[in-house]
Amino acid sequence: MLGPVILAASRSDKMRRFISAAPGTKQVVDRFIAGETVEQVVPIVKDAAGKGLEVTLDVVGEDITTVEQSYAARDAYLQLIERLKDLDLGTRAEMSVKLSMFGQALEGGHELALANVRPVVEAAAAIGTTVTLDAEDHTTLDSMFAIHEELRKDFPQTGCVIQAYLFRTEDDARRLSAAGSRVRIVKGAYKEPASVAYQDKGEIDKAYVRILKILMDGEGYPMIGSHDPRLIAITQELARRAGRKLDEYEFQMLYGIRSDEHVRLAAEGHRMRVYTAYGTDWYGYFMRRLAEKPANLLFFARSILTK
Ligand code: FAD
Repeated sequence: MLGPVILAASRSDKMRRFISAAPGTKQVVDRFIAGETVEQVVPIVKDAAGKGLEVTLDVVGEDITTVEQSYAARDAYLQLIERLKDLDLGTRAEMSVKLSMFGQALEGGHELALANVRPVVEAAAAIGTTVTLDAEDHTTLDSMFAIHEELRKDFPQTGCVIQAYLFRTEDDARRLSAAGSRVRIVKGAYKEPASVAYQDKGEIDKAYVRILKILMDGEGYPMIGSHDPRLIAITQELARRAGRKLDEYEFQMLYGIRSDEHVRLAAEGHRMRVYTAYGTDWYGYFMRRLAEKPANLLFFARSILTK
């Protein structure tokens, strides 16, 4: 019940101002956000690499309102790539981007987002790594997939995300399961209407498994974005049945969530990539993490009330 309310609040400027200013917020935000600057996130990336983990780095931000902000987003990623060059981690440190942060929702936004993301993908390729396009709300996806297809003409390793809760996703998975593709499958984190998405958790899990099968039986590289122990066990079984070796798919989880499991799966020989978000514009990302688990909201409320 609480999830949709929190997701609605994630789009409210009034709530953004209230929550950002509340004492006690930072303590909870720090659990999910790895720092505010590139310099703060670099030790976290090194620490992850030391534990045998890989990362996908996300400079937080979305729903921008000016073209200048879209250029700033592009530049923040270029600065990150410049810093990653020194670490020489190759694909062990890749990046995730939200096209709304690159201007997708502004006038002429499709072209603007493509023009902003291309130099980021180019710079990533120049240091031997790659970029994955995150999936945002369903109204943005045709544009995201078109940009993904365009980028893949020059940078075939560019990845994208599909969301199990959407009715369209089984078809998208079939289209994207060809050789050379990199696809992250997640349950989906936005508030979507019943006309386009399953609302029931059980239905979403069943759809997730159907899509997993399509990806595992396909010729691409599936990236399993989930903390759900049942889905992790099912992934292992489907990979075995499809005859995939451990390096022919990977698990992905979010920084700050089930961290012991990151290390356990890596120790078992799996590729485990931690989605590591950092930056100052954390509000939307943070609210989606609260919506996913009501206990987070209780913890958050307690930390505000005790300050
Ligand atoms: P759930 O059933 O929600 O959770 C399973 C268990 O994991 C829970 O019981 C709990 O123990 C733990 N858990 C899950 N979430 C939390 C939390 N917030 N706090 C504490 N514990 C938690 N969504 C998109 O729409 N677009 C994207 O591009 C996208 N990228 C993602 C990238 C990665 C690497 C991951 C892991 C998720 C991404 N998501 C994205 C979010 C995703 O859609 C889900 O909202 C999120 O992963 C929760 O679903 P779950 O599969 O972990 O299963």
